[in-house]
Amino acid sequence: MTKIAHDVLALVGNTPLVRLQRASEETGCEILAKCEFMNPGGSVKDRAARYIIEDAEAQGTLRTGGTIVEGTAGNTGIGLALIGAAKGYRTIIVIPETQSQEKKDTLRALGAELVEVAPTSYSNPAHYVHTSRRIAEETPNALWSNQFDNIANRMAHIRGTAPEIWAQTEGRIDGFTCAVGTGGTLAGVGLGLKEMSPGVTIALTDPHGASLYDYYARGELHAEGSSVAEGIGQSRITANLESAPIDTQFRIGDEEGLAQVFSLLREEGLCLGLSSGINVAGAIALARELGPGKRIVTILCDSGMRYLSTLFNPAWLDAKGLPKPDWLTR
Ligand code: PMP
Repeated sequence: MTKIAHDVLALVGNTPLVRLQRASEETGCEILAKCEFMNPGGSVKDRAARYIIEDAEAQGTLRTGGTIVEGTAGNTGIGLALIGAAKGYRTIIVIPETQSQEKKDTLRALGAELVEVAPTSYSNPAHYVHTSRRIAEETPNALWSNQFDNIANRMAHIRGTAPEIWAQTEGRIDGFTCAVGTGGTLAGVGLGLKEMSPGVTIALTDPHGASLYDYYARGELHAEGSSVAEGIGQSRITANLESAPIDTQFRIGDEEGLAQVFSLLREEGLCLGLSSGINVAGAIALARELGPGKRIVTILCDSGMRYLSTLFNPAWLDAKGLPKPDWLTR
């Protein structure tokens, strides 16, 4: 363990693995989860933010006094704003207005300049990703971080997350799974682990409303249903996802993911967002597919504290038609 970190950048990554008790007992497997909510910005996306910034500096596309522009569901923006502050860059974040109030307030508090846009399809030029690219083009000395198609994102996981998991499990790992936002985590950890051991099974855990389950199952991008999960749910093959080594795939609904969020909180003291709950449900599905005695790793992406006004708010759960846990209503 490092005794004194040099700066905030040195605090990104090297997160612990925690054994999930109930999921392990239920499946007869060992289900381990990487505590990415412990990164300085509170999510797995700090890794991509750091790598994208350092890569751009090395390539000369981000220079002293420059501006970082990104379209993000929130967590990448939080990472970029913190690392940007530490390095003296201005940060402009384009965010769909439907993202949680906590994330928007956090971004503003961290000094990011926020541009809120109405949610729309990727093919619409007003989509938050295209808006962020235009702002970057119009801003002098600006970098468009472009997390979806900039493969510095997945390099953070090939070089960082995957070797960490390998070292922490001492190479005893049978499967890995997580959901996809940009695909940086799944593709990067998948490629990194396969490099060390081609026999590790890499599984996609897809929320409803995303198109990747059908793509990996039968080669067709096709979505079914919808999800309230933030930060995941992809409808195209991003550059980060290209040639991702996916062996098997699961589709997990919000109710199943939310049941994991509530059980992990009440029974194991882990307070998490919905993408983490969906990941754990996916890890259980993978455990059932691989059979007892296997060791499976997944990702705890961010903290439930980021979703107090949504996942832990009875009125919001009612409005979305989602079940409320009894302790929230008494
Ligand atoms: N969960 C949350 C809460 C996120 O913000 C993100 C990032 N969009 C992800 C999961 C997915 O990570 P990735 O972009 O690496 O696919």
